[in-house]
Amino acid sequence: MSDNWDVIVVGGGNAGFCAAQSAREHGARVLLLEKAPREWAGGNSYFTAGAMRTVHDGLDDVAAFVEPPATDRVDLDPYPAEEFLGDLRRVTDGRADPELSEILVGESRATMSWLHELGLRFELMFHRQAYEVDGRFRFWGGLAVGTVGGGKGMIADHLAAAERHGITVRFGAHVTGLLTTAGGEVRGVRLAGGEHVEARGVVLTSGGFEANPAMRSAYLGPGWDLALVRGTPYNTGDGITMALAAGAQPCGHFSGCHSVAWDSGARPTGDRDLTNQLTRGGYPFGIVVNANGERFVDEGADFRNYTYAKYGAEILRQPGSRAAQVFDAKVLDLLRPEEYQAPGVTRVESDTLEGLAKELGIDETRFVRTVEEFNRSVSGERFNPAVKDGKHTDGVRPVKSNWAQRLDSPPYVAFPVTCGITFTFGGVRIDPTGAVLDTAGRAIPGLFAAGELVGGLFFFNYPGGSGLTAGAVFGRRAGRTAAA
Ligand SMILES: Cc1cc2nc3c(=O)[nH]c(=O)nc-3n(C[C@H](O)[C@H](O)[C@H](O)COP(=O)(O)OP(=O)(O)OC[C@H]3O[C@@H](n4cnc5c(N)ncnc54)[C@H](O)[C@@H]3O)c2cc1C
Repeated sequence: MSDNWDVIVVGGGNAGFCAAQSAREHGARVLLLEKAPREWAGGNSYFTAGAMRTVHDGLDDVAAFVEPPATDRVDLDPYPAEEFLGDLRRVTDGRADPELSEILVGESRATMSWLHELGLRFELMFHRQAYEVDGRFRFWGGLAVGTVGGGKGMIADHLAAAERHGITVRFGAHVTGLLTTAGGEVRGVRLAGGEHVEARGVVLTSGGFEANPAMRSAYLGPGWDLALVRGTPYNTGDGITMALAAGAQPCGHFSGCHSVAWDSGARPTGDRDLTNQLTRGGYPFGIVVNANGERFVDEGADFRNYTYAKYGAEILRQPGSRAAQVFDAKVLDLLRPEEYQAPGVTRVESDTLEGLAKELGIDETRFVRTVEEFNRSVSGERFNPAVKDGKHTDGVRPVKSNWAQRLDSPPYVAFPVTCGITFTFGGVRIDPTGAVLDTAGRAIPGLFAAGELVGGLFFFNYPGGSGLTAGAVFGRRAGRTAAA
């Protein structure tokens, strides 16, 4: 294989392919090195729903890059930049880096068109981001567009596009270190086995440390070593470790991560067939209880897109890191079949609340009291899943702020869940061009980064669909800078 590379990209997920494409389009000879074997191509990006948050002007605007929808009974409000920025600031408690946030939001829409031109296919996500109300499909939660075929489709499209554009992809290539000159310039990488590969620039896109239990417990805290991993087992923080060793500046919320309610029977790391189907995102329509039979979160605090990424951590903190989502018969139709009726779903059903508690092995008396108190506290008018309907509870703690309905229609159905970690928030600091900065704030020559391993954007929580967009926007920037 030629040693004559201009740019090496480390990690073949969405951010890596975007960086590689961008470097290529700016004239570079690009080698993408991926640690996993080909059967595990695509990193965490493969496991996604392919949901991508972008600014847009409504249906006519997204029609420029999505496949034509099967119906015109669609209500899709524009999602302007101020709203995306506002959502990002709100859920990150005002901590998201302002400059990176502006770039992410400001370039989101143009990046969707760029990806489409590269060959990625998009569609409106009727099945996960819209509800049919009064005969019309109403999109909610600032998120409407996803890749055709979810993460699996996205990675198939990226691989095909990489081949079309002459990007060399090498699987089973485990990068273990950076090659640095005496002057501190990064000029290539070292692979497991000792091989050196040189290039003018290296773009790190090798993900976070979510699949590394030692780093999880060191940075996220006790108990996080026991979380189940939703995605690839190969994201073990290698890129962050080697960048820090080269003098990169740590950045962002190192003790924070994205984590969700996840099927309690799932395997320790991601399932290539079921991917994100092991997520349990229907909790806004029921209640969530711990092993003591007590509620512990506001299930209806906001649209799922704005709460799901922080509720995994709440589950981790409960006794045994376990909980159960409880629904009655009248809301079962609102639970996404892809998640709640997938093969192997962990599920319990009973005609009585006592029976349900017994099946779940939780405190029966307390659970029945929790439901009775909850039912008595429900007030408000019409239930509407497509808007924040304000149908709330009065007098129970925690409150349920929206979509509160009595649990009174048997059979009662419960889904045992645990904490599934998605990705970690801490990483390296980049400048707006994608260059990695050192601890004195200077760009490290030849070193660039994008994707999950960049810190500074997400804190505490995350607006659903932002990870892939961030990887694409900053991958595109980093690739362009590396090629230059
Ligand atoms: C189940 C699930 C569902 C999700 N759904 C969505 C969604 O719908 N929308 C959204 O925006 N985000 C979603 N996310 C988050 C999303 O996956 C990430 O934000 C995004 O994929 C990160 O892309 P990336 O390219 O940075 O990392 P990845 O896609 O994880 O790619 C990193 C790659 O680097 C490789 N690598 C690691 N170490 C090395 C090394 N030493 N040498 C070489 N290669 C290495 C890994 O094998 C991997 O292939 C989801 C995540 C999961 C797990």
